[in-house]
Amino acid sequence: MTVDTGFQRPARDHSSGDPVLAVRSLRKVYDTTGRTVEAIRDLTFSVGDGEFACIVGPSGAGKTTLLKCVAGLMRPTSGAVELDGNGYSSPPEGMAVVFQEYGRSLLPWMTVAQNVELPLKAKKIERRQREHIVNESLAAVGLENAKDAHPWQLSGGMQQRAAIARAVAYEPRILIMDEPFAAVDAQTRADLEDLVYSLSHRRGFTVLFVTHDIDEAVYLGAKVLVMTSSPSVILEEVTIDLPPERTQLETRMMPRFLELRHHVYELVQLAKSGPHLKEIS
Ligand code: ADP
Repeated sequence: MTVDTGFQRPARDHSSGDPVLAVRSLRKVYDTTGRTVEAIRDLTFSVGDGEFACIVGPSGAGKTTLLKCVAGLMRPTSGAVELDGNGYSSPPEGMAVVFQEYGRSLLPWMTVAQNVELPLKAKKIERRQREHIVNESLAAVGLENAKDAHPWQLSGGMQQRAAIARAVAYEPRILIMDEPFAAVDAQTRADLEDLVYSLSHRRGFTVLFVTHDIDEAVYLGAKVLVMTSSPSVILEEVTIDLPPERTQLETRMMPRFLELRHHVYELVQLAKSGPHLKEIS
């Protein structure tokens, strides 16, 4: 069964056409004592240079499992993940990850500036250059006045800005975000969405963004990948053909935005039935 929605077009890579990230026939089976769970059956997709790709899917679809494999924290059962054409089995250089739980991702005994500086030290960047990058990154997220504060002195939204500044300072090839705004209020969430969107376009980051929020995926993405329930496959890759200048008020009121949102919503409903939908289509 397929749903003829008129949206099925091949996804477009943004600039060079060469994928930064490629996921090929990825399969993950958890084998714990006495219990085997096929979390991911077969995922194949790529994210082009500078592209903003969003992943949505029902709860339990295997999104966290996928991200762990992509981040090099977990080995797939079969298939491969490549960054710039190279496979890896531990966290690769050139990738930064921002998780939902900002409270746990910043080190509480360090100031905001020290937190942002940490990965730069690991990269062995010299002190003056580090200072420059830290100041620039904090300014980019509007935290220049909070550099000497400790994370626990900041609101949730400000802490997540600090986590974003740390990722940006690292100048990654690809930024992986796992439901990064799920724990903040609606207004802060809208501000952070716009911040990440504009940073990714200004600095040319490639982004893989997992969210359970369909509106957010359509608002931010150049494409939205819909995963089915476990054992998951990609149900559809939806090209978001909205103009690149996106604003919370105008974009979200566009008839095309509403059509795309409706379409992705329908897909996520279908995706709850699992991978067989894809197999018989
Ligand atoms: P999502 O992030 O989309 O909610 P998950 O990746 O957390 O999905 O889970 C996908 C499937 O894999 C679920 O059926 C879940 O129960 C199973 N799963 C996740 N982690 C483990 C694990 N460590 N051992 C066994 N099963 C797991």
